[in-house]
Amino acid sequence: MESEKFDVVIIGGGPAGARTAWRTASRGYSTLLLEKRPRVGFPVRCAEAVGPREDVERYLSLDESLISSPVNGVVLVSPGGIRYEAEMPEIGFIVDRELFDRRLAEIAAGGGAVVRTGHQAMGLLRENSRIRGVVAKDLSSGALYQVRSRVTVGADGVESISPRWAGLKTGYRPEELMSCAQELISGIDVSLRYIEFHLGTRCAPGGYAWVFPKGKNSANVGVGINPLRSGGLRATDYLERFIAARCAEGRRHRLVVGATAVARGLPSLVADGYVAVGEAANQNNPFSGGGIINALEGADLAADAILEALESNDQSANRLKTYNKNWWNSVGRTNEIFYQAARILYRLPDGEMDRALARLKREKNLISNKAIKPWKLLKVLLLSRPALVFQVAGSIGKGILFGNRS
Ligand SMILES: Cc1cc2nc3c(=O)[nH]c(=O)nc-3n(C[C@H](O)[C@H](O)[C@H](O)COP(=O)(O)OP(=O)(O)OC[C@H]3O[C@@H](n4cnc5c(N)ncnc54)[C@H](O)[C@@H]3O)c2cc1C
Repeated sequence: MESEKFDVVIIGGGPAGARTAWRTASRGYSTLLLEKRPRVGFPVRCAEAVGPREDVERYLSLDESLISSPVNGVVLVSPGGIRYEAEMPEIGFIVDRELFDRRLAEIAAGGGAVVRTGHQAMGLLRENSRIRGVVAKDLSSGALYQVRSRVTVGADGVESISPRWAGLKTGYRPEELMSCAQELISGIDVSLRYIEFHLGTRCAPGGYAWVFPKGKNSANVGVGINPLRSGGLRATDYLERFIAARCAEGRRHRLVVGATAVARGLPSLVADGYVAVGEAANQNNPFSGGGIINALEGADLAADAILEALESNDQSANRLKTYNKNWWNSVGRTNEIFYQAARILYRLPDGEMDRALARLKREKNLISNKAIKPWKLLKVLLLSRPALVFQVAGSIGKGILFGNRS
């Protein structure tokens, strides 16, 4: 089997992998990015919402070609029809996700990374207990080859198996994945200012349905459900039902099915010679399932630790674990609160969800110009379910004690 050598090999060419690749390559470390799909970013499996602008622009410049629609607020609709409209002028944008991912990969290549599409990581190389690279496959020729590396990065997204190979995670439990279906629909009545979320067991049990504007009269219309609560129906069945109720008049262009992780943070993101990042590392927001910006932020924190490890020539888990702490202190802690909030909201019976939304409407300072405040959200939801206060406090405490901060 042929063998190559790189300082860093990265599995997965999504936002997490591309950003990590740019960071290590542009510092002069030889970096290989492996993407199994023939084209980075395609097919798109995303509702394409990102924001706020300053967060996105830390990673790439948001020129007009990337933006499908700016967003200025949120509409939440409860099962009983209570509407909560919130002005959030800086919340963000609906983007062209294919172009977005391609730009990030081009930036990585521009920084010196070797970007190889149509190449899949098939397993990890180990020396003693340390991870030393990957076995990869050229999917067009079927040839297997080895890539030896000082650090291996698992950025392989929701379908990731590399964190399992590295011993950081087992498979997802069914409730840790939101099962999604979405159509791009044109010719419908859609606000260009707001993104819409619809709650309730009829439209999206254990999750929500969404309408995200993609330009005049068109939108990504989708549902994300918890398969354990769906009464045997699939996400596509709920999508049909939602489209019939919300925008039956539209023309359908592109069906997307997939899953997004709404899982709790991993206890550790690192192993000897290995780092997990992005959705592979459970870094999505567990309340929304959104993870593009979190993946980019995770990539930067992972890259900081990788660069220190390369510079000191020590790629042990002990050296890399500053990433655990830094992730927890930046996004991990907030994700833990969102995780608890999601566990309450998406399990409420419809009537209680109506009451919870009425409470959210009354809560002052729940939202800023750009985001929902997680602690306030959790507080309001706990008022809907006071019996859960001790359980949630215990669970957060356990997360803090055993989560990834050391
Ligand atoms: C229907 C849907 C709607 C969504 N909407 C939003 C949204 O509006 N906003 C938002 O922020 N997030 C959204 N998300 C979530 C978002 O897409 C992810 O959080 C984000 O893509 C995570 O980035 P990543 O780089 O970690 O993983 P990915 O973008 O999934 O990239 C991982 C890459 O790794 C590749 N790969 C996997 N295994 C291997 C292997 N063995 N070898 C080589 N390559 C491999 C995959 O092909 C993939 O390209 C949505 C998800 C779904 C399913």
